[in-house]
Parts: sequence; C-alpha cells; structure tokens
Amino acid sequence: MGRVVKKIAEGRVLVSDGAWGTFLHQKGLKAEECPESWNLSRVEDVLDIAQSYVDAGADLILTNSFGASPLKLEGYGLEEQTYALNKSAAEISKKAAGNRALVLGSMGPTGKMVMMGEVPPQEVYKGYMEQARGLADGGADGIVIETMSDSEEARIAIEAAKEATVLDVACTFTFSKNQDGAYRTMMGTDVAAYLEMVKSAGADIIGANCGNGTAGMIEIVREIRVIDPDIPVLVHANAGLPVYQDGKTVFPESAEEMASQIEELVAAGANIVGGCCGTTPEHIRQIVQVINKLK
Ligand SMILES: [Zn+2]
Repeated sequence: MGRVVKKIAEGRVLVSDGAWGTFLHQKGLKAEECPESWNLSRVEDVLDIAQSYVDAGADLILTNSFGASPLKLEGYGLEEQTYALNKSAAEISKKAAGNRALVLGSMGPTGKMVMMGEVPPQEVYKGYMEQARGLADGGADGIVIETMSDSEEARIAIEAAKEATVLDVACTFTFSKNQDGAYRTMMGTDVAAYLEMVKSAGADIIGANCGNGTAGMIEIVREIRVIDPDIPVLVHANAGLPVYQDGKTVFPESAEEMASQIEELVAAGANIVGGCCGTTPEHIRQIVQVINKLK
C-alpha cells in the first residue's frame, strides 16, 4: 500500500487540486507552446500554480506533466527531454507541497489511436515507463493516469507505471452521458468494462475526470459503487459542462455550486475529490471547507 492509499485507508476523504491549463494560459502560455516545457524554462510560474492549490488546502496536488509522454512531446521536438521534464514537474509540485500535501504525477493520453494500432504498443509502454520513472525520481507519491478513453492505452499506461515505480497508480476515464442515459467514453467503453480493465491491469485507485460537472460525477460514482464497494475512487469534475459565450469557452459551475454538491459526491462513495477544467483555487478552498465539516 502506497502513501495515497494509506491515507484513504485511514478513513480520510482527500481533497485534490483544480485546473492547471487555464492557469498556464493566464500566465502567458501560448496556444502553440508545449505546457510542460515550462517545467524547465518557467519554473517559478509552475511553482506558483502548485502553491496556490496547496495554499487552498488541497491534500493532494498534481504535476504539470499531463502531456509529457514522449509521443506527445514529439510534436514539439521535445521527446528527448521526457525524463527531465517529468522529473522537474514532480520536483516543482513537491516543493510546493512540502509536508502539507502529497503529489500525484499526472500522465495523460498520447494522442495516438493506440487501440487502432497507430503506434506499436511496445513504444507506448516504453514511453509511459520513462514518464513514470521521471515523476517517481522527482519525488511523486503516486501516479494518476487521467482523461483516458482508450482502454488499451490506459492498460498499457497502468502496467508501465507499475513496472517503473513502486507508487500507487490511479487511472481515471472521461465519460459522457449518451442519449440512452448510459455513461461511456469517446471510444464506447462503459463504466463496468472500464472497471474490469483497470483493476485487472493493477490500478490502486480508479475514478473519473473531465467531461462532467459534479452532478454527472455523482451518477458515475454510484455506478462504480454498485460494482465495487471498496476500491478507492478519485473524482475530478469540471466546473460544469462548457458553454460558448462571446466566442469563448466558459465553465459555468461556481465554487459555491460545486461545493454544495460535495457532500452528496462523498456519500456516493468518492474518496478523493478535486476539480478538472474550469476549477480554480477558490473551488478547492470551498471543497476543503465542506470536507472539514464532514469530518
Ligand atoms: Zn477537464
């Protein structure tokens, strides 16, 4: 049992962090720029984001490494720096966390259609191993493979993280509600099939991120809990579903609205609650207040 699962086993609901991408753009990240390149070139700015979530009271923060798989970095000519960018990502978050929070190293999709054979599975596996090794060497307390929709790619990522590190590995998928009312990923995987795959691949923590506001996540957690009452569940909800206003994408769920649903999310069975797109340190601060009252 790693450090993250141990905290959950002690009976605590952990609060995680919120969005990173919007923050980076606010600090001047350009659309064509690699977000993870900042782990070496703009360390203070990345540290500031991590620090804002620790200061909001998060028990867990992530790392600026979502797109730092070599297959994704290749698009910027940075694949040779995979290890260094991931190691630095973990070091920065660890520095912000000190002994107040744990750090989950983030790994996202490669952007390739792994299920369709666009890249050899062995190459995907090696890439995730290198990424996980960098995150672990930088001091991450766990790994979170997030925003996945391709079961094959997720399975490879979990197995690679397990082989490369001794850390707890979380894997979250992005579901959306179909017209028939069922939650499925973009690739058509439903909650039951997802659960079976991630557990057989060896993930320690499961869950969902992105694609839904808090209300949708409550339904997804209930579905998970019908099948598995025990496995730790992580939820990073968006601040509602995006709407387009004046040519811009806006996430409508305020910190108050999100916080008002957290008790129900925890009652449904979530063990780690944080935010995805559109969530801010203020969302996290208000979630922390709710969780503290539940204790
Ligand atoms: Zn998101």
